[in-house]
Amino acid sequence: MAELADIVTGLGEKKFRAKQIFGWLARGAASFDEMNNVPLKLREALASEGYYIGQPEVVTEQISAADGTRKCLYEFRDGARVESVFMKYSYGNSICISSQVGCLMGCTFCASTMDGKMRDLTGGEMLGEVLRMKRLTGEDINHVVIMGMGEPFDNYDEVARFLRLINDPAGVGLSLRNITVSTCGIIPMIARFAEDFPQVNLAVSLHAPDGDKRMRTMPVARKYGYDELIEACRAYTEKTHRRITFEYALIRDVNDSEADARSLAHRLRGWLTHVNLIPLNEVKGREYKTAEGARVSAFRKVLEDSGVAVTVRRTLGSDIDAACGQLRADNKRG
Ligand code: SF4
Repeated sequence: MAELADIVTGLGEKKFRAKQIFGWLARGAASFDEMNNVPLKLREALASEGYYIGQPEVVTEQISAADGTRKCLYEFRDGARVESVFMKYSYGNSICISSQVGCLMGCTFCASTMDGKMRDLTGGEMLGEVLRMKRLTGEDINHVVIMGMGEPFDNYDEVARFLRLINDPAGVGLSLRNITVSTCGIIPMIARFAEDFPQVNLAVSLHAPDGDKRMRTMPVARKYGYDELIEACRAYTEKTHRRITFEYALIRDVNDSEADARSLAHRLRGWLTHVNLIPLNEVKGREYKTAEGARVSAFRKVLEDSGVAVTVRRTLGSDIDAACGQLRADNKRG
């Protein structure tokens, strides 16, 4: 809002025009022409100064006939493509957005990282993912999860900007408690995040019961050790008094044994944690397979019996390419 006010006053207009424009942007306006209470002169001046509304275009989308999950491949003006997924839950509508174009983290089971990282997204572009989906579906968005392409803590400043933008009461006004940020474990940023955004939910992609196994699938674990990560997460819960979610993708014969479950339970028992078990979304070109149903149930039972809170993520959009990064990989620009 302050930046918009500078622009508007710099063009010789009154400051309150910034609030009007900000409101239009938050309601999903995709062009200055829609802003019918903003003087034409100002709209023309904005366009001639080179300003534009950077909502992404939809390159392609898949809609699940089973549950209405909608997965979009978006393209920004420079050709950068990211994915975003809209899901309906009993507690409301949720959108999973991307924070980077591609990803540098190199997790071996993930499609988003196959071509590395093209660039970071800006906070405004992340908001654009939400607003475009709202416009497409005609539905409210009640929850936002930053768990699509990219590592949010590798683009911390712009993710922080997004959080402030979407929370601004003059705009979308989404409660920070309805937002979840998911990291693969960039340890120094966990403490900073606890300081800056104690109300935002934090999820950590753990995907392994110990350091050795984690290093095999997640290169980030070579830089940030398992014990240190668990310690940083525990410190986070102590500081914020908030539960931390551990994402754990169950990969057949890699991390899905009962011994793995016992070792994980040993680490997580007795503090504010919650484990979200995710049967792996298989990715074309990667050899990993999803864990079998019986292994998922046995894994879950070990955690439950140890007193660790656990859920198995409901598989949404199973009839579409739900693995993150897959739609982009299948629609490479020529
Ligand atoms: S799982 Fe997340 S952090 Fe790992 S490569 Fe994929 S997008 Fe990046």
